[in-house]
Amino acid sequence: MLRALPAVDRLVREAQAHIGEAPHALLVELARETLQRARARLEDDAQATPPTLAALVDEVVARARAVSRPYLRPVINASGVVIQTNLGRAPLSEAALAAMNAVARGYSNLEYDLQTGTRGSRYATLGDLLARVTGAESGLAVNNNAAAVLLALSCFCQGREVLVSRSQAVEIGGGFRIPDVLRQSGARLVEVGTTNRTYIHDYAAAITPDTAAILTVHRSNFRVIGFTHDPADEELRRLAREAGILWIDDWGSGAILAPARYGLAAEPTVRDRVRAGCDLVCFSGDKLLGGPQAGLIVGRRELIARLRRHPLLRALRVDKLTIAALEATLLSYLRDQAEDELPVWRMIATPPAALQQRALALAERLRAAGIAAEAVASESAVGGGSLPGETQTSWAVALAGAAEEWHRRLRLGEPAVVGRIVADRLLLDLRTVLPEQDVVLAQAIIAAAPTARPRPAIQRTADTTEADRCDSPTHDS
Ligand SMILES: *Cc1c(COP(=O)(O)O)cnc(C)c1O
Repeated sequence: MLRALPAVDRLVREAQAHIGEAPHALLVELARETLQRARARLEDDAQATPPTLAALVDEVVARARAVSRPYLRPVINASGVVIQTNLGRAPLSEAALAAMNAVARGYSNLEYDLQTGTRGSRYATLGDLLARVTGAESGLAVNNNAAAVLLALSCFCQGREVLVSRSQAVEIGGGFRIPDVLRQSGARLVEVGTTNRTYIHDYAAAITPDTAAILTVHRSNFRVIGFTHDPADEELRRLAREAGILWIDDWGSGAILAPARYGLAAEPTVRDRVRAGCDLVCFSGDKLLGGPQAGLIVGRRELIARLRRHPLLRALRVDKLTIAALEATLLSYLRDQAEDELPVWRMIATPPAALQQRALALAERLRAAGIAAEAVASESAVGGGSLPGETQTSWAVALAGAAEEWHRRLRLGEPAVVGRIVADRLLLDLRTVLPEQDVVLAQAIIAAAPTARPRPAIQRTADTTEADRCDSPTHDS
């Protein structure tokens, strides 16, 4: 049986004929691996028959195609979840893209002061801009919000105690757990209160000479309802001042615009948190801020200055591309243009009537192409650890037919499309599709229709390996 397998160079030659552009050395490697797997299958299973040469060639070609293109590809997000961590969170604004492009192409004044011709700081201007947009005295950007919280705790609380309400010692999305981050920073977690009710006297009673800070954590991906209590901001502020300890706030999504303007829950903005008296507020750059992946820390000037001097900052610092995109994003807020310029807010601000009109037009276009589709009202979510449980009225196109199969075909298309399945129907929610993507979305659906001509066998093999990576996104934050 093993002798029925072709030699490596035979397989390479056949594969090369199908995919001429692939480097020879890569095909040799893939042919070896493919034959090894075939051999293992034959050795494991006495009943197995050797694969045909054509099947082996298909496998080599499929793998060659899969490894020679980037893993990361554009996806049309028709899931109706605006900030979808699995799909890369906030899309960037045109201004942010242009700013990144401009500094990426050549050199920049990243750490060079053009006025004086001497060394400058990558953090200075961004700090001023953050201050202006949030009302804080100063600010700093790091790799992500997890890094922001880690840096703040490492800098101010290492070897000391940090008070956290039992209702906030939580896990937020993959791998960010407040107790673990605290431990990693070298601080000691002191839990106060109970899961549902924590009073200011619970915090007060836990304060010792060893206490460095109170840490409050935004309930980004869950709600506590019923018989509950949290201390008022004013109580926390006063207690922290009187005890001479810091109040550090992990505000998670960190909206600059008030979501209540768009019919969502009244959620305090970063400015509100600064005004409430938090010494430091940490939040993400790529959630409701609508910018690149980053963690922002805003607060009192002398505290930010100490963070800037902390050795850990070097390991957590942001690069020029992030700074370029962040500045452009923050400038949209400064110019009061965020709702028009930042995709996240454009999506949130779109009125249902506009979505309905687009859904009707898309459904009609699909029916004209022979696809059974109808416009339906739906509920979209902000997601990404922002406003848990809050939905907005939206409109979607529902596709008739086997939902899982539709979804699979759309995920594997170019561009990939991710929707959501509701009551056995695939819905493509237009809240999270930008209007300029409507035409491409229609084309992707038409190309993926089960009646469309099947792709050649070779590509199908490639798709099977890819499918393992492309499960439906989960709802973490
Ligand atoms: C999302 C979130 C984080 C993690 O932020 P990243 O930017 O993903 O590191 C931390 N805390 C809260 C409350 C969050 O919502």
